[in-house]
Amino acid sequence: MTRGDILYSGKAKTIFLSEKPDELIVSFRDDITAFDGGKKDQLEGKGASNAGVSAFLFGLLEEAGVRTHFIRMEDPITMRVRKLNMIPLEVIVRNRAAGSIVRNYPFTEGQYFNPPIIVTDYKDDTRHDPMLNDDIIVALDLLTHEEIDAVKASALKVNRVMKAFFDGIGLDLVDFKIEYGRYGDAIMLGDEISMDSMRLWEKGTMKSMDKDVYRFEKGDVMEAYHAVSARITGSR
Ligand code: 5GP
Repeated sequence: MTRGDILYSGKAKTIFLSEKPDELIVSFRDDITAFDGGKKDQLEGKGASNAGVSAFLFGLLEEAGVRTHFIRMEDPITMRVRKLNMIPLEVIVRNRAAGSIVRNYPFTEGQYFNPPIIVTDYKDDTRHDPMLNDDIIVALDLLTHEEIDAVKASALKVNRVMKAFFDGIGLDLVDFKIEYGRYGDAIMLGDEISMDSMRLWEKGTMKSMDKDVYRFEKGDVMEAYHAVSARITGSR
């Protein structure tokens, strides 16, 4: 693997150029942040845990016919990906009410959404990721109306595949955030899918097994992350 210059350094990952113009190297760091970077820590093993889960889920989704940027793992914290032109949208799918939707609307924590709810936020920490509607997405030139329909259909498929998988290992997929990017004419799934970007509850107990453990100091976050990784590894 040849790792080139840093293209971008985010809150938990560093993106490097590679020897190929259409591929990038993503390094998952041990940094964890919450509240738009207002709370920060370093937790040993966190990068490897998220990288492993992300790689597994990208593989699962590819098998189900969802195109993703994932190429392969180079080592436990280093992922080789296709270079996408990222669309600054956070596509959030919610199966149950938690987090901001409970804070902002009169829903009860844990209530089921059937069909699932899709929310699209503008990815901009300085603006606190404001929610967008379809007309704003089109006016900002992020996607056409047809592309919005395709992205939403893809997000629902991602939800079906992941929800069924987590159900099989005793976890409830409450909600998750994914990001898409352009690769030539295609729009595919990028970024990561990990315990940093999902809510997972222990089935039947609503016990958090995700970044909420860190956000709201509900216990040992690495214990939760390792438990999810171990269940995934045990399912293979
Ligand atoms: P909420 O809107 O309730 O804060 O988040 C909904 C879901 O999307 C949660 O699973 C949360 O982890 C994820 N999410 C929302 N915004 C972000 C973000 O900026 N970064 C990451 N990694 N996940 C996010």
